[in-house]
Amino acid sequence: MKNIVKILAVMLVAVMALGCLASCGADKGGDKVYKIASDNAFAPFEYLDAETNTYVGVDMDIMAAIAEDQGFKYEMANVGFDAALGQVQAGQADGVIAGMTIKPEREEIFDFSVGYFEDGQIMVVAADSDIASMEDLAGKVVATKAGTMGLEFAEANKEKYGYTTTMFEGSVEMYQAVAQGSCVACFEDRAVIGTAIAKGEVDLKTVGEVINPAPYGFAVNKGQNPELIEMFNKGLENIKANGKYDEILAKYGM
Ligand code: GLN
Repeated sequence: MKNIVKILAVMLVAVMALGCLASCGADKGGDKVYKIASDNAFAPFEYLDAETNTYVGVDMDIMAAIAEDQGFKYEMANVGFDAALGQVQAGQADGVIAGMTIKPEREEIFDFSVGYFEDGQIMVVAADSDIASMEDLAGKVVATKAGTMGLEFAEANKEKYGYTTTMFEGSVEMYQAVAQGSCVACFEDRAVIGTAIAKGEVDLKTVGEVINPAPYGFAVNKGQNPELIEMFNKGLENIKANGKYDEILAKYGM
């Protein structure tokens, strides 16, 4: 009886080892360590966790879960949104995950994964502000964040509503300008400003409805690293099927 248990145990170990050879050896990424770029202050998608001094968030966890599922290696560089897009375009990074909205103009420069989240922008003003509509922005200054949908929306409407804009590198600086009054409003992704307000990090409020809701995607430079997009899509499908995706969203209150 003992011998049978021993034999079974040996067989089990052998089967597991073979399984590992098959799957580990089939790593699609091989030995390559992909460089992925991201934003750095865009909670709940990517932000510095003060306790661990590491970047955490929905995008960070999704990337980790997909890499594990698909068996590829990567390192993350949280360089800021505009810098992240620039690094991919310059070939200094292989991919970008940064709460990045999929839109036609970007699809001319990047190849996107399927969407993994959906959000749009919303107007943000100081908590005690009287500004309640686009019309109220006349003669005022609107804060924008480099490279974003919010910037594009603010620029596209400034002549119509008679305001000017001042651009900032990151969301934190943009919020500060609005909270301190050098700017009267900004346009930020709804889930992101919602998270900052809910955490009590900013003395701001949202006004009106969500603008241009659209999916977020993982992106690579157009025509490059197609296997990375393929692995992202496949991995996303798998983590949606096994519950990991829902678990990640729930962990960050989404
Ligand atoms: N979703 C917005 C965009 O794609 C903002 C992204 C960001 O600031 N990280 O422009």
